[in-house]
Amino acid sequence: MEKTKSLLVMGYEVVIGFETHAQLSTQSKIFSRASTAFGAEPNTQACAVDLALPGTLPVMNKGAVERAIQFGLAVGSHIAPKSIFARKNYFYPDLPKGYQISQFEIPVVQGGSVEFFLGDEKKSVRLVRAHLEEDAGKSLHEDFIGQTGIDLNRAGTPLLEIVTEPDMRSSAEAVAYAKELHKIVTWIGICDGNMQEGSFRCDANVSVRKPGEALGTRREIKNLNSFKFMQQAMDYEIRWQIEQLEDGHTIQQATVLFNPDTGETRAMRTKEDAADYRYFPDPDLPPLVISREWVDTVKASMAELPRAMAARFEADYGLSEYDATSLTQSHALSAYFEAATRVCAQAKLASNWIMGEVSRRLNAQDIGIEAAPLPPETLGTLIQRIADGTISNNAARQVLDALWEGDGTHVDAIIEAKGLKQMNDSGALEAIVDTVIAANAKNVAEFQAGNEKALNALVGQIMKASKGKANPQQVNDLLRSKLAVAT
Ligand code: ADP
Ligand code: MG
Repeated sequence: MEKTKSLLVMGYEVVIGFETHAQLSTQSKIFSRASTAFGAEPNTQACAVDLALPGTLPVMNKGAVERAIQFGLAVGSHIAPKSIFARKNYFYPDLPKGYQISQFEIPVVQGGSVEFFLGDEKKSVRLVRAHLEEDAGKSLHEDFIGQTGIDLNRAGTPLLEIVTEPDMRSSAEAVAYAKELHKIVTWIGICDGNMQEGSFRCDANVSVRKPGEALGTRREIKNLNSFKFMQQAMDYEIRWQIEQLEDGHTIQQATVLFNPDTGETRAMRTKEDAADYRYFPDPDLPPLVISREWVDTVKASMAELPRAMAARFEADYGLSEYDATSLTQSHALSAYFEAATRVCAQAKLASNWIMGEVSRRLNAQDIGIEAAPLPPETLGTLIQRIADGTISNNAARQVLDALWEGDGTHVDAIIEAKGLKQMNDSGALEAIVDTVIAANAKNVAEFQAGNEKALNALVGQIMKASKGKANPQQVNDLLRSKLAVAT
């Protein structure tokens, strides 16, 4: 259950709800056959329907509906058997029809939730809905000639707008939600997730209140297209709202924009109400009917979902929920883990090495697991050598370094070449232990008098004398048995 850990900022509770536009990865547009490919010459990918020429009619793209169904299944939503397209009326130069086709009263995806970890705390954010709609065109401001052009290539691009309840209580939680949502849509392949190209854009609704009070008035920060800006924008907005209230002002509901250059949010317009849009059902489109059979077919075609995969990792590999969730951040990561584990049959060790040593090296180079310089099978062999006592953890890190630098993929050859094998010759080890005991009478006496720390000093000396090749556990055992005092 939700922990009642208080997260007050200067005595205020933060409330955040998200509206996210995920561009669906169909080849053609939602109501026309024009291409959705990014980056074409302006207005070369806008057909008569997208240009809203008189007499044209929209035709629903089945692929867009399928992707909405996939999303609903992934987050445990109700898929509406019958949903309705509506016209959202407003005037803007990049919208030649004068209305956007969207869904209003009855969206295709209803309810559901997104679950994720914030640190080691599990969170669940409820979804209100996800609806299909078309994107508008783009105004291109050519500042140097003081003119604005309209590019309608984006007009009619299919979007799924995903709306949460105001469930989030900090900017960090909201960013974690956005990352999880991004993971889900890219995992199931309904969106390419490219944030720079605008394929995944978040609007953050932010308000603050004193604990126990009714929800405060929100301001909506539009079009956040990087996780970093998202965090900065919300943090600025939260402080700004608290300062306003502390100064005795009230918050006006508004739509604001974040300026990454100044790090500030600024009001763009006071927020419209739904009534301003004069929504009504689009007479050009019949209701969207989705049969039980269609949902079942889509379900059968989907690969294992991250949540189900994490549950399987817990059950089959005995991993903690936290580890299982971490390893299912992406298809590539989970596949890497499973391939390594197939080789070494040491799931917990594989998980620790991937989330620790491997991830740290990937992060330092800012690359993903796909670009890791060693194949998972090689990591599996390395882990096997730790598990069977051939090398210590420390030596394994050196082998990993060598593999990372591209020194081939032969773990055993590297261990041999670098002389990293642990000392398994107990006669040789015993000789070292005896020498160290003889030379450190003071530590020996202290240990025998009950000072456990004195043992560490002896272990350290032995490890050093063995050039790190002794097995620390073995050294420990040997020392204890040799120094055991009769009780
Ligand atoms: P509208 O239809 O005017 O956009 P919605 O009720 O659909 O308003 O809410 C839009 C988003 O704002 C949702 O994600 C919702 O969770 C969030 N939201 C609503 N009220 C608040 C509030 N007081 N503080 C923060 N977020 C809110
Ligand atoms: Mg809304």
